[in-house]
Amino acid sequence: RLDGAHGHVRFDEVSFHYKPGRDILPKFDLDIPAGQTIALVGSTGAGKSTLAKLVSRFYDPSFGEITLDGVDLRELSSEDLRRAIVMVTQEAYLFSGSVADNIALGKPDATIGEIERAARAVGAHEFIAALPDGYDTDVNKRGGRVSAGQRQLISFARAFLANPAVLILDEATSSLDIPSERLVQEALQTLLADRTAVIIAHRLSTVAIADRVLVMEHGRIVEDGAPAEL
Ligand code: ATP
Ligand code: MG
Repeated sequence: RLDGAHGHVRFDEVSFHYKPGRDILPKFDLDIPAGQTIALVGSTGAGKSTLAKLVSRFYDPSFGEITLDGVDLRELSSEDLRRAIVMVTQEAYLFSGSVADNIALGKPDATIGEIERAARAVGAHEFIAALPDGYDTDVNKRGGRVSAGQRQLISFARAFLANPAVLILDEATSSLDIPSERLVQEALQTLLADRTAVIIAHRLSTVAIADRVLVMEHGRIVEDGAPAEL
């Protein structure tokens, strides 16, 4: 990894509120060793997305600190932060432009060879090659023909190419057909290798491949263990 980041993430007495007096995370401690895959589950409003947004520095803590490899996130340059921590959201945004440009979003200088390698790694190459103009297909024009599962795979290829030390994934809730579901699940395993990951998990199959499952309620971790233990 070019930036040398390992991906050890630590929350140290982190409090966060959107409105003063109403802490969403009250004095939150969490240690995520480099390389660990965390599945984050819990009822609606528990604070899962808030936690994910804090790690990706969408927000800063009101109190306490979040560190990456021992360095406060606020001390990282925006460039280092963008390289080290990537968030993939539920919507899996595709902008108007070619499939190749969409995959290269986080790495605009990527060669077509690198783009194709990333697509192959997550199992997206086959369907992309079958599009009318392959990697040059405009996803906006042909938007109707890119399914939810295929959108996921394109966003996985994008994250794979960016190769961050830390991946934050808010898993799509939309249901996929069985073949797409299987493809996405396999792609996910490839994507998780050699990096730290926090996945807001909606699928049991995702929880099963995690190293550690955190159950969150009202801004607190109420269970923390291996998938088999829960
Ligand atoms: P879900 O499973 O529904 O996505 P979640 O666990 O991701 O829920 P969060 O979105 O982190 O939960 O929300 C935690 C709490 O913070 C909720 O009470 C929510 O209403 C509140 N909240 C979230 N975003 C904001 C915001 N932008 N402004 C004010 N309050 C917010
Ligand atoms: Mg959420």
